[in-house]
Amino acid sequence: MAKQKLDLSVVSPLYNERESLPELTEWIRRVCEKEGYAYEIIFVDDGSNDGSWQVIEDLAARYPEVRGIRFQRNYGKSPALHVGFQMASGEVVITMDADLQDSPDEIPELVRMIREEGYDMVSGWKKKRYDPISKTVPSKFFNLTARMVTGIKLHDFNCGLKAYRREVVKSIEVYGEMHRYIPVLAKQAGFRKIGEKVVQHRKRKYGVTKFGLSRFIKGYLDLISVTFITKFGKRPMHLFGSLGSLMFLVGFLAALWLGIRKLWFLNHGIPAPLVTTSPYFYLSLTAMILGTQLFMAGFLGELVSRSSSDRNRYLVEKKLNFPREKEVIKQVL
Ligand code: UDP
Ligand code: MG
Repeated sequence: MAKQKLDLSVVSPLYNERESLPELTEWIRRVCEKEGYAYEIIFVDDGSNDGSWQVIEDLAARYPEVRGIRFQRNYGKSPALHVGFQMASGEVVITMDADLQDSPDEIPELVRMIREEGYDMVSGWKKKRYDPISKTVPSKFFNLTARMVTGIKLHDFNCGLKAYRREVVKSIEVYGEMHRYIPVLAKQAGFRKIGEKVVQHRKRKYGVTKFGLSRFIKGYLDLISVTFITKFGKRPMHLFGSLGSLMFLVGFLAALWLGIRKLWFLNHGIPAPLVTTSPYFYLSLTAMILGTQLFMAGFLGELVSRSSSDRNRYLVEKKLNFPREKEVIKQVL
């Protein structure tokens, strides 16, 4: 199908949300029709096995704005978002959970912030949450850490309700479970104007949550990966190489000192203990071995990043005076 120019794409990833879909669709339609948007609703069925796809088929038959993609199996929310982003053709793209916990009534204001206030991305903030305490308390810590580590001042990184300028979703790649860190990915891609809007949150009406408590462990591990990749992904040797060299040097100097001391004792006829009786011997040995290992890790990292396909992928914001220059913003080189 030829891509039309649309004002808005609502992307909603879902896994077994059969009961919510009709209500959600009606609600989004109501809001969008009232605002007069040219819009599409993209449901990405992440391998549901509760008949969600039949519901989407029915909705799509009834409403031309409803589009559906179905995964062969359950891949996860991030892959679902990624594919939804690729298929979206709206100037503004809004993501929204399909479980009716996010309110479509927030759409007009989010769209306005992107269009008129010039935000690249606006993240929802569920200031008042209707989730069990086992989720809200760890989530506070999680957001605090994420704020400190990434330097992005958001209260609710993982809110499903977010709005993006089209260029943002076309230039980031959400993979693994990185949907929690889309603001970080956006910042990394050079989109600086990231805002926040308090959004209303609702109790889950149908179905159950798809993420257990393991979300927090995975969330922290992913935070480490995402910050590491941001800082050193393209130059692993700078981290591992410097750490490794430093460690090796410390170990080497300690071993050298032990050796020189031994020789000096022998030379002066002082009974010298075996170097192996000194704890420093073992410490220096370990430091040298670990140092070499770290250095090797850095070197291997360099080899890996050298052959990565996006090693030379830069986002060009503007171009001047080239032949047949187009008015393309944030174009991929
Ligand atoms: N989801 C998905 N694939 C998955 C898990 C979840 O598409 O593997 C969808 C889910 O259907 C919902 C959204 O992601 O639309 C958020 O999930 P959920 O409501 O379970 O998370 P919570 O609100 O508990 O954080
Ligand atoms: Mg939910």
